[in-house]
Amino acid sequence: MPELPEVEVTRRSFADAIEGATVLQARLGKPLRWPLGLAPESLVGARVGAATRRGKYLWLPVSMPAVEGGLLLHLGMSGSLAFTVQAAAPGEHDHFDLQTDRGLLRLHDPRRFGAVVWSEGLNVGTAAKLLAGLGMEPFDPRFDGPHLHAGLSGRRVAVKLALLAGDIVVGAGNIYACEALFLAGIDPRLPAAKLSRPRAARLAQAVRGVLARALEAGGTTLRDFKDAHGVAGSFQMQANVYGREGQPCFTCHTPIRRIVQGARSTFFCPTCQKR
Ligand SMILES: [Zn+2]
Repeated sequence: MPELPEVEVTRRSFADAIEGATVLQARLGKPLRWPLGLAPESLVGARVGAATRRGKYLWLPVSMPAVEGGLLLHLGMSGSLAFTVQAAAPGEHDHFDLQTDRGLLRLHDPRRFGAVVWSEGLNVGTAAKLLAGLGMEPFDPRFDGPHLHAGLSGRRVAVKLALLAGDIVVGAGNIYACEALFLAGIDPRLPAAKLSRPRAARLAQAVRGVLARALEAGGTTLRDFKDAHGVAGSFQMQANVYGREGQPCFTCHTPIRRIVQGARSTFFCPTCQKR
């Protein structure tokens, strides 16, 4: 599943190229998770603005002569966006094309949990509804120990599940939550409310650090994920615990354990990570 770093890498791969482009044609394939919300042909002639990201959503502002708004895009479970100057004819899994005078932005999504949705603005209408409840951006300077500690307080769930919920901070998906908890030395089963202030500060720093490194590495290596240039990332090569069940911890040589929390695999070192 594309996580925040992959989505940000995708944004960076086409944002500069598409900004200022004019839409020549828009094409829908099979239905995605939600309907587009306007007739695709009404996008013809629109001007594309600067693409931004919020959580795992991308926002592409689109200005038409009488209408301002934009497209909110989500890659779902298996989606990828590619911007190409000379595109081939759409394949059976290509479910949205935005043909512009600079090139073609295409959503390829075999499982079709992805979405392209029209909204009158990022903070109004459909986009506001979909983005409501998202936690703080991990690279927002206001995301720090006190913010995380306040968010975790009063929650009985395990700290890993509180991170995954995404309503305190976005971006700590399964891989990154496991890695951040390892770096912070925190047992993923610890009840969220029991995390001390100093440990919350270490965890906030670890979340930001692990996401920053994944971004530098171009996102994780996932079978279905490729950025808009078709380059696979390499973060998974550097994981300390994720996907390493039974292998020795790089720090203490204890075998890494795998447990299931909230139907997802959690990997951790039972020696380095403490309750
Ligand atoms: Zn260890």
